[in-house]
Amino acid sequence: MKKYQATLLENRLLGPEIYSLWVKITDLGEVKPGQFFEFATDTRFLRRAFSLSDRDGDRLRFVVKVVGSGTRWLAGLSAGSKLDLLGPLGEGTRMPSSGPVMLLAGGVGAAPLLYLARKLNEQRVEVDALLAAGTKEELILAEEFGSLCREVILATDDGSCGHKGYLTDILPTLPGTKDIQSFYACGPEAMFVALKRLNFRKPVYAFLESRMGCGTGLCMGCAVRGRDGRYRRVCTDGPVFDLEEIEL
Ligand SMILES: Cc1cc2nc3c(=O)[nH]c(=O)nc-3n(C[C@H](O)[C@H](O)[C@H](O)COP(=O)(O)OP(=O)(O)OC[C@H]3O[C@@H](n4cnc5c(N)ncnc54)[C@H](O)[C@@H]3O)c2cc1C
Repeated sequence: MKKYQATLLENRLLGPEIYSLWVKITDLGEVKPGQFFEFATDTRFLRRAFSLSDRDGDRLRFVVKVVGSGTRWLAGLSAGSKLDLLGPLGEGTRMPSSGPVMLLAGGVGAAPLLYLARKLNEQRVEVDALLAAGTKEELILAEEFGSLCREVILATDDGSCGHKGYLTDILPTLPGTKDIQSFYACGPEAMFVALKRLNFRKPVYAFLESRMGCGTGLCMGCAVRGRDGRYRRVCTDGPVFDLEEIEL
């Protein structure tokens, strides 16, 4: 983990209150899928966490959904702005030994899964993606997933694009689901709860985005309880956990 001075190269609207930020960082080593960076914002004492969504050499992509003042500040920045980043943080995710793998994205949860798709692609692991969101406008990164995945399935709650319904209603009806060896999911907690109920008997790795304090394991603000009764820190033990390992 290191502190970096980054330069914002591009800030573009992706969907309603969702922004794609490309930043330039020099001297950055390997970053594992699931790892994240903490951004200083001028409005808050605590940094704000964002997963790496894509990488092209020293250019890093982040996807930011505006939910409060820190994300609003980031969304308002223009190219050339300087950013103070701490990272890469977290353990990231373990990679599968074989495929096919399915990525399950709820809304802006697509962000960290895109970088995972790129890494799986580099390792020649077959990967499919099911991207779900409330509406067509909220479905993001479909084209990017399309260039990396065997198949991309789209779903919206209101039926404005792709299948109509929740991701967890559609997943069991897809013919390829039974062949999938492991699932990687990022989205709202309700999606994880519903995924657990589906009981696929295959590993489901959940990218948690709990409210976070320090991001470095000191404050315990992001702790989640494991099924063995022990607590795990999302920032340093995660943020990716086997759904079977944690209580929701
Ligand atoms: C490991 C990790 C990776 C993340 N990756 C991304 C990402 O790639 N893209 C992205 O848009 N966001 C991501 N987040 C969430 C992001 O960190 C928060 O949305 C951000 O910190 C909110 O800051 P704020 O100052 O705008 O909002 P605040 O003023 O802090 O909060 C505004 C509202 O949002 C709610 N909120 C704040 N943080 C969270 C959270 N973590 N989960 C749920 N609700 C929250 C608050 O309860 C409040 O209602 C990630 C979080 C973690 C822990």
